[in-house]
Amino acid sequence: MMVRPMLRARSKTRKRTRTPGGKLKTHYKKRNNVKRKCKICGKPIHGASSRGSKSQKRPSRTMPELCARCMRKEIIAKVRGGA
Ligand SMILES: [Zn+2]
Repeated sequence: MMVRPMLRARSKTRKRTRTPGGKLKTHYKKRNNVKRKCKICGKPIHGASSRGSKSQKRPSRTMPELCARCMRKEIIAKVRGGA
C-alpha cells in the first residue's frame, strides 16, 4: 500500500502490529538517536550523535572514534613510546 511520502523514508522504523479487528497494520516510528561509543572504554563520545551530517556524527579532532580521555592516554603513550 502506498503511504505518505514522509513515511516511505528509511529514517522511520516500521512495526507490523495486529489490530483488535485482526488486521495487520504497519506502525511508523521515529528512530532512536543512538549515541556513539568510544572504541576503548565504551563510554559515549561527547558532541557526537548517530544522526545528521558527518561533522555532527563525530568530533572534528584527531582520533574521532575515541573519547577525549582515551585520546589523551593514546597520545601520551605514543609520545612516550610504550617504555
Ligand atoms: Zn574512551
